[in-house]
Amino acid sequence: MLTIDPVLHLGFIPDVCQYLFKYELHDIVNNLLSPQHNTPSKFEWKSGVKNAILREETYLWDQRMAADSYFAFFRILQPAVEPAVVYKVSNISLYRNSMLVIARLWTRPVTLENQLCLKCNNTYQDELVHVTCECPSKLALRNQLTDSLASILLPDELLRVLELDSVSQTLRFLGAPVETIFDMPSETLFLRNTFAFIVNCIQAYFEH
Ligand SMILES: [Zn+2]
Repeated sequence: MLTIDPVLHLGFIPDVCQYLFKYELHDIVNNLLSPQHNTPSKFEWKSGVKNAILREETYLWDQRMAADSYFAFFRILQPAVEPAVVYKVSNISLYRNSMLVIARLWTRPVTLENQLCLKCNNTYQDELVHVTCECPSKLALRNQLTDSLASILLPDELLRVLELDSVSQTLRFLGAPVETIFDMPSETLFLRNTFAFIVNCIQAYFEH
């Protein structure tokens, strides 16, 4: 049986042993050391390590999130341990510029006080929702987005997005799983378009 002696200092060996125990991989090593050992292939070993780490880290993440009601809404946006949708969608250089803006919008503090829009003289509670989905001054950009989404989504899919109320629509444009998620290629194209749209809206709203 593989054991760790905390007094001995054997280079990286104590660290390796700790990780083997932490991710319950010590059985594989014990099996290797047994007389009738069965050596796993490189693929089996890498896949076993990856799955064991994912299992343990998912469990720890879940426990941490469930222990604090502060994370209730965060869990809706990020329901699993994996890179956030912003990073998955923006993983090619063309879309990296929008990544930082969208990532900041995901974590922005929200103030829900009535404010007056100087572009359209209407009042709003959330600036991002107003700029992207409500303000008439950005209608041309919204129409451009609708045109580009029409070439990606089926007509009924596009209709479902357009029928969302402005708060849900803004969240959907940011990549939150608040409405039907499309298949992976369509979802990626959809979010690349909506991310670019949000960045353009904000730029146009505050520059002119
Ligand atoms: Zn406005």
